Amino acid sequence: MKFRTLIACATLLAAAGCHDSSSSEDAPSPPTSPKRKVLLLGVDGLMHDYVATHDPAITPHPDAPNFQRFTTTRSFSGGYLSTSTQVATLSGPSWSTILTGTYTDQHKVTKNNDQPIANISLFQHLQEKLHIRGGSYASWSNINTSYLSKQQRFINQRVDGKDRPQDMGGDDYVVERVLEELNDEQSRLGVLFIHLDDMDGAGHSCGWGECYSQQLPITDAHVGKLLDAVEQREAKFNEEWLVLYTSDHGHVEKGGHGGQSNAEREIMIGSNRPEQMNAFFRQPAPPVSLTGDERRDEWMGYPGQASLTPTVLSWLGYQATPEDQFQGSSLVGELGAYKVLAKSESDAGPTARVHISWQAGDNVKSQNIYRNGTLVATLDGKQREWIDELAVSQSLPAGSYELRYGVQADVGGTTTSNTVTIILGEPVDVPALIGSAHTALPLDQLDGAIQWLGSGTPSFTNGPHNGQKALRVDRTQGYASLPITLGIGKGHSFSFWFKANRYRSDPNVLSNKNWSSGTNPGFTFPIADGAIKFQGGNGIKRFDTNALSVPIGKWVRITAVFDPTRQGGQLNVNDETSSAFASGVKSITSPYKVINFGEGGDGGYNLDKEVDFEFADFLYFDRALSDLEAKSLQQQYLTS
Ligand SMILES: [Zn+2]
Ligand SMILES: [Zn+2]
Repeated sequence: MKFRTLIACATLLAAAGCHDSSSSEDAPSPPTSPKRKVLLLGVDGLMHDYVATHDPAITPHPDAPNFQRFTTTRSFSGGYLSTSTQVATLSGPSWSTILTGTYTDQHKVTKNNDQPIANISLFQHLQEKLHIRGGSYASWSNINTSYLSKQQRFINQRVDGKDRPQDMGGDDYVVERVLEELNDEQSRLGVLFIHLDDMDGAGHSCGWGECYSQQLPITDAHVGKLLDAVEQREAKFNEEWLVLYTSDHGHVEKGGHGGQSNAEREIMIGSNRPEQMNAFFRQPAPPVSLTGDERRDEWMGYPGQASLTPTVLSWLGYQATPEDQFQGSSLVGELGAYKVLAKSESDAGPTARVHISWQAGDNVKSQNIYRNGTLVATLDGKQREWIDELAVSQSLPAGSYELRYGVQADVGGTTTSNTVTIILGEPVDVPALIGSAHTALPLDQLDGAIQWLGSGTPSFTNGPHNGQKALRVDRTQGYASLPITLGIGKGHSFSFWFKANRYRSDPNVLSNKNWSSGTNPGFTFPIADGAIKFQGGNGIKRFDTNALSVPIGKWVRITAVFDPTRQGGQLNVNDETSSAFASGVKSITSPYKVINFGEGGDGGYNLDKEVDFEFADFLYFDRALSDLEAKSLQQQYLTS
């Protein structure tokens, strides 16, 4: 009875609303409406172009006739670039996003670290909101054993690839177990999630080449069996299945993933019921302007991985509320607000401004804006942006705030933004702060304590400000070295202009350590794939902030703080911030007693990394700047 009520609600929801069980009486013929079910198919490491662009000229590959049974939209891995949702294109964070409807800023999985998600999964939503039983069949067992380890009581059927018989592959095993369930007339599962791992394995073995092409027909055959079984159920029983498929990330041409290249980011979402999909599935939102890179911005206009969970729930009759904080919108049913992005315009000082932008479906008549679940504005249906003005007040005392904005239209579910961090407090006297630096080096020449080490000579280029020169470190000529001892157990802060002209691999930008291991004592700012991190170690443990974007050939202002009481670091690059705390690292002192520009503390790590960097206006503070001081310093440099 409960199920039938919900299904009736689902079909009526858009038109008539759904308030209580009596609405099932309004349905034309409830007993005959089919029971809705979902198969969510996850194919690990499947590049978009292999199955969704059937153009052998772009990526030569064998036919995948069963994947072609789906209608697809583009999608993207790695989150929204240059926001708090950006994350490595790795399996752990991606499956966590797919199975929670939220990004790394909420589920807190940042890499394949086997940490349980910090929030709740699709399975808990299913049980608590819809009383629907879910099954999780994971060829990569870590999905169940790690990321969903605290969700097990909400998973009614769990199958792990590691429990397969010895003579059977993980994918064969989970497919067989799902087929068993689908062939069972008595099956009580309403949602089945199945994860297939072998495409990813093939990608790692030899990239886009032979193994990938050999594996595709095998995985495609699995997909065919699953679709056939679903169609047989629909023919035999009064059931209506939505089958969605997606991937967690692609692969670089040589095989491998984790970075933010197009090949790693570009994935797809496929549906067996194109006629049920809404306008956001059929056509993308306009490109988001987050990176300035046309292709990446365009792809981020398509639905993200966080849309899967809200889509499953919406198909089964549940609309996302502000409390759910889903960061993707449903791709079935009436389209409300979607693609909600928040950006802090001034985020430190006595006041702060946050700009919220979004898209909305054609039928939207009114919209509510929620800040962390509290209604803060009601707008008409036409508006697509809003500014939140915040000031220190009784209800908002000085301090640091993490804010997420939900946009709830009168139709569709609520979609929630990325997290933005603001700091409210007394204004900082920035000139006095700069004057208090332990070491200040303009770097328009090498004077004072700083030395040039190497066979060549330093050169000076046009700096970020008119007329002021900057130090260029071409590693073939040498590097600059500042002799200094960082106090043990003390805070340390660094602030400087930086420009990357060229590099390969993951060289040190500024460092006092041997970066051949991240746990080695000391700190470094490694740069790789267009993004920089702040990382430190104490010989045993390490912290690594998320990587923030540093485009080639562009000056950026960097301020980073190591705080021994918070045990970790914070990195600011222009107006982006990333923190990594609570790692147990209380010191970033190294045996080398230097800070090196364009090299590690050991003096040798960058030798073969083709480093060509520029630096200007370097400041070192022998204490941890407060969040507000670091932000104010950034703003001063970026606006002056
Ligand atoms: Zn993966
Ligand atoms: Zn992989």
